[in-house]
Amino acid sequence: MIYQQKGVMIRQASYSESSRIITVLTEDGSQVPLMSRGFNKPKSPFIVLRQGIKEALFTYNRFKGMGTLNEVDVIEPFKKLNGNFTVYTYGSYVMELITRALEEGMKQDSFYRLLIRSLKLLEEESEPSGVTAFTAIKMLPYYGGQINVDECAVCGTRDRSLFTHYSFNHHSVICSRCINDTLRSVVPVSNRVLYLAGYMKHVPIDNVESINISEENGKQLLSFIEMIYDEYTGVYFKSRRLIRSMGDADST
Ligand SMILES: [Zn+2]
Repeated sequence: MIYQQKGVMIRQASYSESSRIITVLTEDGSQVPLMSRGFNKPKSPFIVLRQGIKEALFTYNRFKGMGTLNEVDVIEPFKKLNGNFTVYTYGSYVMELITRALEEGMKQDSFYRLLIRSLKLLEEESEPSGVTAFTAIKMLPYYGGQINVDECAVCGTRDRSLFTHYSFNHHSVICSRCINDTLRSVVPVSNRVLYLAGYMKHVPIDNVESINISEENGKQLLSFIEMIYDEYTGVYFKSRRLIRSMGDADST
């Protein structure tokens, strides 16, 4: 049967000297492995897939298992994202956050919507750490993690202006009135960051038009979410190390 679906190539592996097997995350949120004959040839029709992250229309034959790629038409080349090393690295982090949670036979169209939304935000110059944090917050439940930034675990207040700390014992925010020396595993987190985390947790994916926050707030927010991942998920992303090393380079 012939299919035509929007998708993003998420993996590729060499098959022979001239061919590769690519895996596409399609718009309905499934992973489709496709034999791409002639991928490595100089005049390959699949040349557009060789570099960068792109959304494309994939035309392929498939009965069961592996399909055969016939045609690729790029829909969104993400030119700014692919043309800027820093933004591209954040784009790779976004890809990793989403694709690592994929399981065999899974169909999750929200993963695709989140991927495209996050990549578009990066393309349209939203704050990159903020965009990555948004993706990470939306993906957290799929890694078995949780983040509670809506009410103080001790007194139950929902007054966001009072939140100043996060407790890993209570798995929740703590307000300034309830902070005392007897609480363990508590870290100070800026009120603004906790507010942003709460907003991103609840906002529907498709409602986010832009993330215009300062670079400092974006970085603090991403660090906070990474701390949550460390505490609850035990999954570590390669792109995270790369971004950290870029940060070190900036500061020297
Ligand atoms: Zn409280």
